[in-house]
Amino acid sequence: MLISLVVPCYNEEEAMPLFYKEVSRVAETMRQSHGAEFEFIFVDDGSKDGTLRVARELHDQDPRVRYVSFSRNFGKEAGIYAGLQAARGDYVATMDADLQDPPALLPDMLDALLSGDWDCAATRRTTRKGEPPVRSWFARKFYQIINRMGDTEIVDGARDFRLMSRRMTDAVLQMSEYNRFSKGIFSWVGFRTKWFDYENIERVAGKTKWNFWGLFKYSIEGIVGFSTAPLVFAALMGVIFCLAAFVGIVFVVVRALIFGDPTSGWPSMICILLLCSGVQLFCLGIVGEYLSKTYLEVKHRPIYITKETEADRHRR
Ligand code: UDP
Ligand code: MG
Repeated sequence: MLISLVVPCYNEEEAMPLFYKEVSRVAETMRQSHGAEFEFIFVDDGSKDGTLRVARELHDQDPRVRYVSFSRNFGKEAGIYAGLQAARGDYVATMDADLQDPPALLPDMLDALLSGDWDCAATRRTTRKGEPPVRSWFARKFYQIINRMGDTEIVDGARDFRLMSRRMTDAVLQMSEYNRFSKGIFSWVGFRTKWFDYENIERVAGKTKWNFWGLFKYSIEGIVGFSTAPLVFAALMGVIFCLAAFVGIVFVVVRALIFGDPTSGWPSMICILLLCSGVQLFCLGIVGEYLSKTYLEVKHRPIYITKETEADRHRR
C-alpha cells in the first residue's frame, strides 16, 4: 500500500525541512501500524527562494521524496493538480508545507478509508484563531453566499488537507479545467467524505501568501466557477427595473392627463439615471466575469509548465 503526499510549496524553504521531519516520523509509525509505504511529492510553484534546492537535497537524502518544479508561479491549485498527476499511490493526500495541516491525523484518516465506507477523509478547522477578525468575518460571509447560490456544497473552514482513494483522485484529475477552485472540485466529484475537525494551527515558519485582495479574487473565482446564480440575478434586476419603469410611466402620464401637471425635477432624474446606468454596468460586469473565464478556458492553455522533476536529477 503506497500513500502519496502532495505538498504545494511556494517560498517554503524554511518550513520544508520541518515538514519533512514531522511527516517522516508519522510515516514511520504508519509503516509499522498499517504497513503503509510513502512518497512525498513537493511541488515547487516557481518559488523565489531556495525551495527547489531544499527539494533536491531532500530527494538526494531520501528517494521517497519526489518533486516537480514549475517554470513560474502558477498558484496553489495548479500545484495540487501537478502533484496529483505525479502521484502513484493507492491513496493520495494533499497538505500544506507549513504544518498547518497536522500529519498526526493521517492514521485516523487512513483508517476511515480502509473501513471501505468512505472514499475521502477531509479536514476542517473549527476555529480561526490567529487570523484577523475582519478576514474571518468575510470568510464566513463568503461561505454563506456561495452555499446559497450554488449546488456544489463548499464546507466552511474546510482545508485542502485530505486523503483520497485512487478512484477519487482519478475523478479529480478528470476535471482538467483551467480555472481551478479545489474546494469546489473536491465537492463536485462526489464520493462519501468523512470530516475531521481540528483547531486552527499557526504556520511553523515563513508567512502566508494570502492578502485580502487575493482572497477576494479567490472567492469570486469560486462563485463564478461553481454557480451561475449571478447571471440569473442580473436578469432579475433587469425585470424589476422594467416593471418599476412601467409603473412610473403610467403614473406620470395619468397625472399629466388629469392634472395637466408638467413633470419637473431635474435632480431626481439624474439620480434615476445614475442608478439605472450603475445597475447596467454592474450586470455587464457579472456577464463579463463569466465571459473572461470562458475565454481563458477555451484557450486550453496548460495548467502548469514543468521546469524540472526528480527524474532530471538522475539524467545529468
Ligand atoms: N502555495 C503555493 N502557491 C502559491 C501560494 C501558496 O503552492 O502561489 C502553497 C504554500 O506554499 C503552502 C500552501 O499553498 O504550502 C498554503 O499557503 P498558505 O500557508 O500561504 O495559505 P494559508 O494556510 O494561510 O491559507
Ligand atoms: Mg498555511
